[in-house]
Amino acid sequence: MKLKYLKNVATLNLDSDKCTSCGICLDVCPREVLVEKESRVVIQDRDACIECGACALNCPFAAITVRAGVGCASALIKAGLTGGEATCGCGDGGCC
Ligand code: SF4
Ligand code: SF4
Repeated sequence: MKLKYLKNVATLNLDSDKCTSCGICLDVCPREVLVEKESRVVIQDRDACIECGACALNCPFAAITVRAGVGCASALIKAGLTGGEATCGCGDGGCC
């Protein structure tokens, strides 16, 4: 089963002008969000992105931006690890 993140909320962005299609982001992404199509790397499944930040951290050309380690993905992972309630620390009335 392929898990999905919340729809249309991932902050992932790929600047095709900066991207050289070196393929490093394809190797480090754990969710197969990015793919190579016709010799260009593109975002195939943005909603599968968990905003881990690995692609942006490893891109040698700063072609990718993503707000890593924030919001619901972080909260869900933390809750899964600790067995506690999912909260991202945004405070009462925040996103969780
Ligand atoms: S690592 Fe950066 S430059 Fe290389 S393919 Fe991915 S986005 Fe493009
Ligand atoms: S942030 Fe993580 S899950 Fe999202 S595209 Fe980059 S490497 Fe993949």
